[in-house]
Amino acid sequence: MGCLIMLLGASWLSACGARDRPRLEVIRGYAMGTTYEIRYAGKPGELPPRTTIEAGVAVVLESIDLAMSTYRADSEVSRFNRHASTAWLPVSADFATVVTEALRISEWSGGAFDVTVGPLVECWGFGPNGGTPRVPEPAEIAKAMARVGYRHLHVRPQPPALRKDIVSLELDLGAIAPGYAVDRLAALIEQHNISDYLVELGGEVYARGHRPDGGRWRVAIERATVSGGEIETVVELNGVGLSTSGNYRNYFERDGRRYSHLIDPLTGSPAAHQVAAVSVVAASTMRADALSTALLVLGESAPPLAELEGIDALFQIASPHGIEVHRTRANRRAVKKNPAG
Ligand code: AMP
Ligand code: MG
Repeated sequence: MGCLIMLLGASWLSACGARDRPRLEVIRGYAMGTTYEIRYAGKPGELPPRTTIEAGVAVVLESIDLAMSTYRADSEVSRFNRHASTAWLPVSADFATVVTEALRISEWSGGAFDVTVGPLVECWGFGPNGGTPRVPEPAEIAKAMARVGYRHLHVRPQPPALRKDIVSLELDLGAIAPGYAVDRLAALIEQHNISDYLVELGGEVYARGHRPDGGRWRVAIERATVSGGEIETVVELNGVGLSTSGNYRNYFERDGRRYSHLIDPLTGSPAAHQVAAVSVVAASTMRADALSTALLVLGESAPPLAELEGIDALFQIASPHGIEVHRTRANRRAVKKNPAG
């Protein structure tokens, strides 16, 4: 997660007043420690009351927060983290769905993606209670590593439940839950028979259909520079999710090395490489979210893997000459370079 994108196309907001033309509605708010924005379009007589959508959005976001927020003591994830037992703990179907996908991406990435990595994130000072990033003593890293490992986490779909075989195992779904939330919000919009919409939460986006002016929904991916504000590329989205995972703000440098806020669970240390950002387009935003994090942890070995697996990914790699861009074949097919308008 991280606001590494810009939504484009605000200029036509005022241009759609006529009765028969599609109207644009925009709902903005704050959830899961970040901001969200939902845009949808339709003929005025065909759209449900805006308050109906707003109420639905609130219900969806509250249910996800109650399942997956580590900031709430009463959430399912907090209960699981406190659960000092190796017995199954019943959870909601939503929670089990997200953990199932997380474990799939863990296997796929050879353990680079791991939602049990929290103790290591804390240890390097990147966590919510972490203070400032620092290089911990090897003994501290070893202690944290003993409590990390997706293989100690088990999920079952029916009845949905989680189990751990190390009682101090903890979950942090920060690298996948925002993408899941976007998919749930998109499903909510679809339930109201709206087929032209864009949903964004914390930089994770899903869009389908058209803007009121007939164009596709477009999102700018930011160039991965510390100062920000420059556009690297513009992506048109239709029935797919986009996620960017970036290192270029949240990192620290020591002895000329760049330490990411993403920790490589296999070494117990921050992924230290020159890949500054990875953007992934996938059928679901949840998958794009998890994959972008996984590929960023993998670093230099990620572009060939993404190519081999047919993933639509754009890598921004820091070099002495600035940011170099590497696109997989699937990305070159899908992304329009400098689309007009
Ligand atoms: P994202 O912005 O989606 O790349 O995810 C950032 C979140 O991922 C932070 O909340 C970290 O706590 C968490 N995180 C750090 N390292 C990993 C990892 N190796 N696998 C999964 N999540 C991680
Ligand atoms: Mg992610």
